[in-house]
Amino acid sequence: MTQTVTNWAGNITYAAKELHRPGSLDALRALVADSAKVRVLGSGHSFNTIAEPGADGTLVSIAGLPPVLDVDTAARTVRVSGGVRYAELARAVDAHGLALPNMASLPHISVAGSVATGTHGSGVGNGALASAVREVELVVADGSTVTIGRGDGRFGGAVTSLGALGVVTALTLDLEPAFEVEQRVYTELPLAGLDFAAFSEVMSAAYSVSLFTDWREPGFRQVWLKRRVDQPLADFPWAAPATEKLHPVPGMPAVNCTEQFGVPGPWHERLPHFRAEFTPSSGAELQSEYLLPREHAVEALQAVDGVRQTVAGVLQTCEVRTVAADEQWLSPSYGRDTVALHFTWIADTAAVLPVVRRLEAALDPFDPRPHWGKVFTTAGETLRGRYPRLGDFRALANGLDPEAKFANAFVGDVLAD
Ligand SMILES: Cc1cc2nc3c(=O)[nH]c(=O)nc-3n(C[C@H](O)[C@H](O)[C@H](O)COP(=O)(O)OP(=O)(O)OC[C@H]3O[C@@H](n4cnc5c(N)ncnc54)[C@H](O)[C@@H]3O)c2cc1C
Repeated sequence: MTQTVTNWAGNITYAAKELHRPGSLDALRALVADSAKVRVLGSGHSFNTIAEPGADGTLVSIAGLPPVLDVDTAARTVRVSGGVRYAELARAVDAHGLALPNMASLPHISVAGSVATGTHGSGVGNGALASAVREVELVVADGSTVTIGRGDGRFGGAVTSLGALGVVTALTLDLEPAFEVEQRVYTELPLAGLDFAAFSEVMSAAYSVSLFTDWREPGFRQVWLKRRVDQPLADFPWAAPATEKLHPVPGMPAVNCTEQFGVPGPWHERLPHFRAEFTPSSGAELQSEYLLPREHAVEALQAVDGVRQTVAGVLQTCEVRTVAADEQWLSPSYGRDTVALHFTWIADTAAVLPVVRRLEAALDPFDPRPHWGKVFTTAGETLRGRYPRLGDFRALANGLDPEAKFANAFVGDVLAD
């Protein structure tokens, strides 16, 4: 059977002729063992060829496996199938009075696919989503199963793995007691006069803070503060409270967004920007994102300001977030407290790519690591120099997958010697 499979954005049509959906673990193991090349497609929210197995490769969805969603209230953990989306996971966890520490801007994405690419939310003290993972279960190249948990010397490569180690069938995540969050939006924060001390104060003003701008002017159109109600309400003198509910993409309806104006609600209905039942973001877009050491945040924003008019021409919105350092070898926030500069572009690859190159040149002095799931043009050699533990990851991948069954062109470029 031949079918066309695309990613969520529609800018990638996978060359693989079919999307296989095994209905049992045994069927998955046999499929992997019998295939020469394999890649898994999660919920397809990446914007590049990271999931592409090639025309003769096997593209697999694990969404048809029997779902696992086991909450252990005593241990405060959840074991979840890799293909489950955060929206479903969050509801199940919350029903047990427990919470994940953080979420991305949308809950529509699969757990395994998200942590594989280093997906993150915001918050000066919040690590990427992979930081909550304590164990992963994989089907590896020969069809056998392998479990790697914290404390195993391989764990640093096992979670943010770009799908290069095997099929992640289940993950166990740490949880904490459920908490409530209230969200307030402010408008017009100028870039002029924003030094690093002020930037740090702004980004520390709540549990999770995001700045948005269209770069048509040098400053931020919106500031989103997500405050845990069990933490104090700080003054926010930096910008004016919004007078209406807002969407981060100008012109899009605020009804798609999670509740604002300080109405407290469950963590999973406030930490994402977009409601699970609506299209997230603009729906017609490409995205890029660069994660760099937080101490360079203001200089990096000034560098973007220097190419502001070029960027603004193809931009829908830019979001600035913070991510705490983590220990996953291939995580873009590995080993450094991070500022993440995200760009939601118009859905026009030809118009966007030259701007991406110009932006990357402007950010280059700050050692940026591109988000693995988004559009970037950084050369493999440059990328490799930005990951000090790449050699350890390469050795792990060679050990679990000696014939590079799970390495596509994207991963091959990253891991090349
Ligand atoms: C509207 C929108 C908003 C976004 N917001 C954010 C955000 O707030 N923060 C952020 O950091 N990113 C964000 N992203 C990017 C997104 O989180 C990543 O692209 C993420 O990888 C999506 O997960 P997925 O399941 O769709 O992965 P896919 O795109 O399906 O796959 C990504 C990678 O994971 C691998 N993979 C997937 N499942 C498995 C598995 N079971 N086993 C092994 N490998 C697997 C794939 O092979 C591929 O290499 C956003 C994307 C969109 C479209």
